[in-house]
Amino acid sequence: MIKGIEKLPERIKQHILEVVRREFTPPDDRIWVTEILYCLRKAWFRRKMPKPIDLHSAWHLYRGIIFHNIWEGLYEDTEKKIEIPIWDTGAVLVAKYDFIDNDTIYDLKWVADSYEKFLVERGASKAHKDQVQIYLHAKGMKKGALIYLMSKSVKIFEFELEDDFDINEFLKRALILWDALRENNPPPRTPNEYECQYCEYKDECIKIEKEG
Ligand code: SF4
Repeated sequence: MIKGIEKLPERIKQHILEVVRREFTPPDDRIWVTEILYCLRKAWFRRKMPKPIDLHSAWHLYRGIIFHNIWEGLYEDTEKKIEIPIWDTGAVLVAKYDFIDNDTIYDLKWVADSYEKFLVERGASKAHKDQVQIYLHAKGMKKGALIYLMSKSVKIFEFELEDDFDINEFLKRALILWDALRENNPPPRTPNEYECQYCEYKDECIKIEKEG
């Protein structure tokens, strides 16, 4: 919880919610890379049954957007879009990387201070690394890095495109989500204890399972 945030002027609070809504609304005719890194059913729910975001959650995302926008502006690279056709289906997997410095693609993550202990114990998140691997593959580059920004520290993880990286694995997931959205049919669950625990669609997901 962000102490005192409710006391901000109404106009500022509405602005925060609007910026976050705009930045995180996926395009109708595309699949976002970030949608296929986690549970596909959750991604489906987020498109089909979007829930309003509260100001406290929006605040974290908003701070991240500020960093993205300011740091991106330091680099002249204006073509940050990545578009990967999903074979010949007409669907496209899209993303936008943060910036390229010398020979490395960087991606920024604003995370809570409590996340630092996970970074120390387990290193960078696999999903975040997969995200950068997809960027490296699409740009034909070798070196990537994740920058985790916390209010009290910064952690950077550097890595290379894996020799056995296979984009088809991700295209398959993107196509499952694409088909599920078009057919209005939720995709299979991808149960993950941590993800399910914090999933905002837990109840809806369980209901689907019960109804078969
Ligand atoms: S509860 Fe778990 S399996 Fe169900 S949608 Fe959420 S993350 Fe996916």
